[in-house]
Amino acid sequence: MKLDRATHDPAVIAAWAARVAQRARGIGRFQHGLMLAMALSAMAAVLLQSGTWGRVFATLFIPLLVARIVDRLTLLCPHCNRPPIGVLQRGPPEGVDYCQQCHYWLRSPYGIHRHAPD
Ligand SMILES: [Zn+2]
Repeated sequence: MKLDRATHDPAVIAAWAARVAQRARGIGRFQHGLMLAMALSAMAAVLLQSGTWGRVFATLFIPLLVARIVDRLTLLCPHCNRPPIGVLQRGPPEGVDYCQQCHYWLRSPYGIHRHAPD
C-alpha cells in the first residue's frame, strides 16, 4: 500500500495512543510477568540443574502464546474496530504505524509534536 494515501485523523491517532496505554496496564503487564517468570525458571533450571524448573519454563510458553494471540485480537483500530495487523504477523501490535484494514494512521507520520501540513 502507498502510505501517502493513508488517512491522517488526529482523533484516531489519539484514540490509538489511549488504547495502547490501557493495554500496557492490562495484558501487557500480564505478559511481562510471564516473561519474567520464564526467565527466572530458565535460570533456576540451569543453576540447579533441575528438570522440574525446565518443565515450568516450557509450560509457561502456553499462557504466553495465548496472551499474545488475545492481545492481537483485542487491541483494535479505533477507526474500523478490527485488529490493525494479522495474528501471525511478526512484531508487537502496539508498534504498528497504520491500520492495514482501513489504512488510517495510528501514529502520526509527522512526529509526535508536529501537525499535519495544511
Ligand atoms: Zn482500521
